[in-house]
Amino acid sequence: MNADELQKFCAKQDIREWLLRPFRVGSDLCASNGHAFCLLRDQAREDYEEADNRHLLALIGKVRSSRMAPITATEISAPEHCKACKGSGKAVFEKCRECEGEGEVDAETDYNTYFGLECKSCGGDCGTWNRNAEGECPECDGSGNKPETEVVWLNDHELGIQKRYFALIKDLPGLNVGSEVTGTGHAVTFRFDHGEGAIMTINKPRAVVA
Ligand SMILES: [Zn+2]
Ligand SMILES: [Zn+2]
Repeated sequence: MNADELQKFCAKQDIREWLLRPFRVGSDLCASNGHAFCLLRDQAREDYEEADNRHLLALIGKVRSSRMAPITATEISAPEHCKACKGSGKAVFEKCRECEGEGEVDAETDYNTYFGLECKSCGGDCGTWNRNAEGECPECDGSGNKPETEVVWLNDHELGIQKRYFALIKDLPGLNVGSEVTGTGHAVTFRFDHGEGAIMTINKPRAVVA
């Protein structure tokens, strides 16, 4: 992994501008979107800004000093393709002209006025995806993967992480995944040949006891 590839861990859109590109943490380079972070050892360069967010630095410090309890994912699968762009990452939604993107139309006859009829031009889909357009697909942020909150559950741990974050790390060389309870909530930590990081987890919903 290099600095360019680290960009995958950055936020795409965020008012916290420091999440939009990698930043320096000492001699390392780090990227985060607020839900996951990844550090590359000894890759810091002058053209990146030094991190100054105290919360994130504290979290990074905790993860780095933590002891990892190794875990394996039970149902790891390759992410499915995004339906909007069919995996290319490029698509622009073009609103239906008849219903102006509402999916339904109103109609009037000499006798009655009808409201909310399904638009026959788009079949209620409100428009079509133009996959020849150059724009980044808004459904998957240009990743081409199915946008999802689907979760990878981790063995013997009532912890899950979003599949799309797991997809970012699953092929890293020398990957080890572990669990760690941090001061700000649960995180799954990972270490690989050139660095380390963490992904915030989702807790398994508990059965309600009557
Ligand atoms: Zn897409
Ligand atoms: Zn329509």
